[in-house]
Amino acid sequence: MKKHEFQEDGNAPSELTNARVEIDRVDRELIRLLKRRMEAVRTVGDVKLEGPALPFVDAGREREVLHAWVREAQAQGLSEYFTGRILREILNYSRRTQENGPGRGPEGGGRRTVRVGYQGSPGSYSDLACTKLFAARGDVVERMGYSCFGLVVRALEEGEIDYALLPVENSVTGSIGEVNQLLVTRNLAVVDEETCTVDHCLVGLRGAQIGELREIRSHPVALGQCQRMFSSLREARAVDHFDTAGAARSVREAGDPTIAAIASAEAAERYGLAILREGVADQVHNQTRFLLLSKEAERVDTRWPGKTTLTFTVKDRSGALAACLKVLADHSINLTRLESRAEPETPWEYMFLADLEGYAEDANVASALGELRPWTNHLRVLGSYPSRALEERPIELPPLERGNGKQRTRSKSAPKAANAPAPATLHALPADQKRSIIRAGSAEIGGNRFTLILGPCAVESRDQIHEAAAMIKTRGAHLMRGGAFKPRSSPYSFQGLGFEGLTFLAEAGRRYELPIVTEVLRPEDVDPVARDADVLQVGARNMHNTELLKALGRIRRPVLLKRGMSATLEELLQAAEYIMAGGNHRVILCERGIRTFETSTRNTLDVSAVPVLKARTHLPVIVDPSHAAGVRELVTPLALAAAAVGADGLIVECHPDPSAALCDKEQALRPEDLEQLVEKLRPIVASQGRTL
Ligand code: PEP
Ligand code: MN
Repeated sequence: MKKHEFQEDGNAPSELTNARVEIDRVDRELIRLLKRRMEAVRTVGDVKLEGPALPFVDAGREREVLHAWVREAQAQGLSEYFTGRILREILNYSRRTQENGPGRGPEGGGRRTVRVGYQGSPGSYSDLACTKLFAARGDVVERMGYSCFGLVVRALEEGEIDYALLPVENSVTGSIGEVNQLLVTRNLAVVDEETCTVDHCLVGLRGAQIGELREIRSHPVALGQCQRMFSSLREARAVDHFDTAGAARSVREAGDPTIAAIASAEAAERYGLAILREGVADQVHNQTRFLLLSKEAERVDTRWPGKTTLTFTVKDRSGALAACLKVLADHSINLTRLESRAEPETPWEYMFLADLEGYAEDANVASALGELRPWTNHLRVLGSYPSRALEERPIELPPLERGNGKQRTRSKSAPKAANAPAPATLHALPADQKRSIIRAGSAEIGGNRFTLILGPCAVESRDQIHEAAAMIKTRGAHLMRGGAFKPRSSPYSFQGLGFEGLTFLAEAGRRYELPIVTEVLRPEDVDPVARDADVLQVGARNMHNTELLKALGRIRRPVLLKRGMSATLEELLQAAEYIMAGGNHRVILCERGIRTFETSTRNTLDVSAVPVLKARTHLPVIVDPSHAAGVRELVTPLALAAAAVGADGLIVECHPDPSAALCDKEQALRPEDLEQLVEKLRPIVASQGRTL
């Protein structure tokens, strides 16, 4: 006989009704208890915020909580596994509540509204990750879905959104190349991370039969992750779609029961579809990691376990990458990801993208980054942020201990130093005296070859710059100079042809296979000039322009930095430091004459600058005799002096027809002057152990 009888009128037995009432009551009670627990958690968080020595994550205390929980679950005859999972989620919620501090967090007051862009449609995994991350950050989110990653980044750069949330890697399919390429080539800050469990479902119209499916739509990556299912559904073909949720929506719109999609359960719900089968991915554990990008870095509380993302290129030296990894190992820094990306501006050079544990401002990480410098051409910290991937690591259920288990173990990670030391000086000559060699296209500055940068003061026309290129190509030039933007003393003088001039210069450079050097005047022109020029020049008048120097720190082209007319060598080195601090280590210093009481020359060439700089920095040092001399006759003697004191090269103005020059005609060398200069330089350069 059955224990519970249904009543004659079809109503449920009273036991069922009563049990459901009990469930609803208990659920309300659980929520009330959870609220009380979160209030206590918040108090702990406030105390931690006030006490500088307390780390947010106290692994010992978490273990203790877990022990007590499991012991209680066992005593009540409940599943250790499932109750353990519930506690894990509660602990995640607690950590994030504490991390956000008073007034913020999932249910704190004072919430901001932020605009977040992602790739895909509502209900996609990116959208789900956005919900999860911003629930933790405690902001109100306005979401915008874009059709591709590049458009999300553009929207961020143009201020249409405040943040971009992009997937960087998946635990099954690996790195997401397009997003990582955007990370290394654009100037964006990484401000947070999120992980999201990918749980693919086969979704279709209500009443659709799996056996009758002819087409299954989804993002190609998702389709690739469900191969086993496809091998059992021979009649169904896979059709690429730009995102999983968009595929689900298209199934709804098609209204055809033979078409289904692979998407999340949330997408099925959102578009009114049925889940035909759950868990259709080949791998059970499938997670995607996302990075939250912004235009500016954000402050984070470094007591929460954190991570740092950085990009770097290593010097073309054997063992350079191994040396970088050793620096990290010597500092006991855990590298959680390392991948190489193509460097589009310099073929066959590679850019590394690394994630490591710790914050860039931690004393230990800062010191490691300082030690990496001599091995890199470029090093840029994209950002430090709280490590959220950590939460997804399974919590190990502890074996039950005997005894009262009362002793508290403290977290292994020591509290972070309150004041990280100032970063090491990036320009300083290292103890091993190794000097930087800077590659610019086919040329190398700072190596065994003495570098000649020749060309007119200004680009005046297409014909003029092509003629100049032809003239210098056969007279020993390694690079070609030419100003497209001219910083003239008088506003009525020729100001340069601007971007049109740059186009002519780049054309001539390609035709005669000469890398080009050109001056940039404004921070906003740095990116467009860097697209065409091989080396960007900072003129003497701009050496103190810190905004320009900072903008140059963010690119990966070499910078030719001229000494200001009244700048000390220390000021020149600090200007170089500005560029290097931004991540660009390819700086070439240039002495071009300074202002003194002497009026016989345009400026006074400070020959001693060369050996003084060489003793202080690993950066290459070149000399511009043209702007020091001001007249043609003095250019060659000053150039020879520069070579004799150990300069790495020269930048010299010349013109096919100086009498017709629009700029600095008195100091421009003629073709025959160039030939004499090269002949006279040869023995001096050789005496320095170099070749021309
Ligand atoms: C130049 O090289 O074109 C120039 C303007 O030089 P400086 O900045 O040294 O005056
Ligand atoms: Mn000039």
